[in-house]
Amino acid sequence: MSERFLRQKFKPGWIEVIVGCMFSGKSEELIKQLRRSELAKLHCQTFKPKIDNRYHDTDVASHNNTTFPSTAVETSQEILNYVGRNIDVVGIDEGQFFDTDISEVVTKLADSGKRVIIAGLDTDWQGQPFGPIPHLMAIADTIQKQYAICMSCGEPATRTQRLVPASNSILVGSAEYYEARCRTCFDATLSLRLASLNPSDTLDQPQA
Ligand SMILES: [Zn+2]
Repeated sequence: MSERFLRQKFKPGWIEVIVGCMFSGKSEELIKQLRRSELAKLHCQTFKPKIDNRYHDTDVASHNNTTFPSTAVETSQEILNYVGRNIDVVGIDEGQFFDTDISEVVTKLADSGKRVIIAGLDTDWQGQPFGPIPHLMAIADTIQKQYAICMSCGEPATRTQRLVPASNSILVGSAEYYEARCRTCFDATLSLRLASLNPSDTLDQPQA
């Protein structure tokens, strides 16, 4: 067996999770890591769930309009159909919107020697753990928790405050409906109180 073959066969895979509230720079960090990998001539492939079409139909986009080309998928298993053998780094954005199979998918990718970087919201607008992210954090090799700046008091923020009435946890359309808040300024019941004041006034869009 040649040394090169051994290196390929036993190339270590890796799962990195980047979490935080909205406006904490998660997508920006993901894009930064992907760009660095490309500079090192590594092959990157990036995915996001089809529901996230706030800024760009297919690219991964941060709030400051930095973008990176990506493939939008309906289910996490679809990712496995797209990732080629030559791919070194797999980026996944908006991980909170994926189904629970995403943990199995990223494990398979890491076990096959790929570096997997997945970004997502760790808590929803009620301050509760969001979708598959808690499980992904448990199986990750590294976790990077980012914080934003509280838009009420200027302290470090770890929560996403929803400013409009709500009927479910997915509100596509984004920035103007949310603020980053610290633990003290965060009000988990605000959206629910607004919803009870105006029960027909929800801005939720249908899922894509
Ligand atoms: Zn605050």
